Amino acid sequence: MPIAHRFAILLTTLHLAGCPAVEETSPSAAIDTERGHEASEEASPDSVEWPRHGLDHDEQRFSPLDRIHRGNVDELGLVWSFDLEERRGVEATPLMLDGVLYVTAGWSVVYALDAASGELLWRHDPQVPRSFLAKGCCDAVNRGVAHRNGRIFVGTYDGRLVALDAKTGDVIWDVQTTDRSQPYTITGAPRVAGDKVVIGNGGAELGVRGYVSAYDADTGELAWRFHTVPGDPAHPFENAEMERAAATWSGKWWKWGGGGTVWDAITVDPELDLLYIGVGNGSPWNQELRSPDGGDNLFLASIVALRPDTGEYVWHYQTTPGETWDFTATQHIMLADLEIEGRMRKVLMQAPKNGFFYVLDRETGELLSAEPYTTVNWATGIDPETGRPIETTDARTFDGEHVVVPSNGGGHNWPAMSFNPKTGLVYIPTMVFPATFKSPTEKVDREPGGGRWNVGFDRMGAAPPELPEEEVNRILDEAFSGQLVAWDPVAQKARWKGKIGRPTGGGTLSTAGGLVFQGGQDGHIHAYDAATGEDLWSHDTQTGAMAPPITFALGGKQFITAAVGFGGGFAAEGGVVAHGWKIPNVPRVLVFALGGNKQLPPSEVTERPLPKPAPVTATAEVVARGKVVYQRQCAYCHGDGLRTGGLNPDLRYSPPGIHQIWEKIVIDGILEANGMVNFAEFATPEDAEAIRQYVLSEAQRLHESRQ
Ligand code: CA
Repeated sequence: MPIAHRFAILLTTLHLAGCPAVEETSPSAAIDTERGHEASEEASPDSVEWPRHGLDHDEQRFSPLDRIHRGNVDELGLVWSFDLEERRGVEATPLMLDGVLYVTAGWSVVYALDAASGELLWRHDPQVPRSFLAKGCCDAVNRGVAHRNGRIFVGTYDGRLVALDAKTGDVIWDVQTTDRSQPYTITGAPRVAGDKVVIGNGGAELGVRGYVSAYDADTGELAWRFHTVPGDPAHPFENAEMERAAATWSGKWWKWGGGGTVWDAITVDPELDLLYIGVGNGSPWNQELRSPDGGDNLFLASIVALRPDTGEYVWHYQTTPGETWDFTATQHIMLADLEIEGRMRKVLMQAPKNGFFYVLDRETGELLSAEPYTTVNWATGIDPETGRPIETTDARTFDGEHVVVPSNGGGHNWPAMSFNPKTGLVYIPTMVFPATFKSPTEKVDREPGGGRWNVGFDRMGAAPPELPEEEVNRILDEAFSGQLVAWDPVAQKARWKGKIGRPTGGGTLSTAGGLVFQGGQDGHIHAYDAATGEDLWSHDTQTGAMAPPITFALGGKQFITAAVGFGGGFAAEGGVVAHGWKIPNVPRVLVFALGGNKQLPPSEVTERPLPKPAPVTATAEVVARGKVVYQRQCAYCHGDGLRTGGLNPDLRYSPPGIHQIWEKIVIDGILEANGMVNFAEFATPEDAEAIRQYVLSEAQRLHESRQ
């Protein structure tokens, strides 16, 4: 891929994530404690809820509702929409309980909406300090809430777990789950396991040690915590697993944090009394720095099974030993019973970033099969005996030239898969784009704490300037693609593949109506034939759609709901790819039903005026230095090569007033309340001025290109 190679960018992470939905009534338990009321009362098929993140504990996201089906889906139309106030990305799976939709927006804000009308019942803003924006990699997003016994639980971007009264939104308890002085964030949805609420966190791009915690749902008291990587061996290990894990590390990994954050997948298995967590990448990414003598570095990039009551370790399976490419195993973990070689197996399925689709025996962690679900060039396969990937000889070539696929963004990221037991297929939003890695050339990048972002590789990005923008976009659209893949997990092969579009395709929903619903970056939500992939219906969303849709029934009528809005890691880092797409971010909840005919308000996309930039007054050397510092410290939020995905300010458009107070912003942090924290620890006033000169030089170039 010579063209992709030419533009190969060290892109940052793109965190950029059946049983019927009708009530689970069992003779021995008339009252479902998770629901907190008489389960039988709502067993009417006229009302079918979406009570958990993945619909049921198995997280298959397969609804038995079939009133909307292949034959009538073309009559599907909008019945209401609701604008979310927060102008950040939208990644939430809503819940629908008792006629109320609970949906989260940016900054961990929770909305309760009347599911039939869209009327706002309450809104809870947990008041996350905006300075936390710089403590995360991938936008102040949130993927949803959990529910138990009349309470709604949300993890907040500043690391709290909050219990709210489902009726009023009043705070019942609010606990800090992380050290606020460290760059921990929470974007994932909590899960309820028995009488506990389980929550992880993120931050492995910025140097933290990962863990997952369980809190008493009634009191908010910490019940247990399981770390995913060992801490400083000078202190006692928390448990025998940490001691065992430490033997797979070398050097002084704890100074870097080690990583292994559990930022999305947490799957509860009441049947086997297990809890499965998906563990993230190493911190820093570059294993040569964090563990110089190699080693597997447990439990990075692993699926770990724990006892939900105690947090005790039961088994683990490591997808990527010695992880070094940001190949997290945090992606959606789905449970199913599948017949494999004539025998029914209780399996767990995952399509982690590394490009292989795994089917494990979830009682034991035994690998049953693994095959590539997308283009993979770093390993030729998974050894069925050892369960380990067979790496290619050049997989760990970090010269800035060698292209690795999948990229650090993954063959699949957080947008959820779904499984249709009738077709036997798993619907995976896949991605293909290249990444190159380059070992750090500057000393500062070879040490812990060298920057707010230090993944141990040089940033390679910045735009190819010579070509016209349309040409760049055309090339990038070919090199950066997303595709819905219908995967047979038993045969381990694709049964159909959707049209090639932009990464990342949104999460998916499967229904008994023979449909797969998915949004995308083309500004539409689609319904595909689950058996063939035929595009049967689409509707304008006016914005990128990343979150997985849900479905529910009220009063005998089936609804399809999607929370839409562009944002997340891709939009924050931007670069020529996301910048070129020019996808507006319009955070909204959209609700569809048969016969719906509401129209969205007209969308307004206006070209922003570019202030005439002041001349560059520094030497070419200073400008070049400014670019280096910018790429290291600023690009993850303000865009690779000063090109944003529209989420954070495009600095080339900075008015003269901003240039006048530049040093006060960068060094003194006077805009901290907006999320622009001070960088005094990582940049000198001379650095700040060099960055400013680089910004001016790029603004000049943009200005000239428009003359
Ligand atoms: Ca990562």
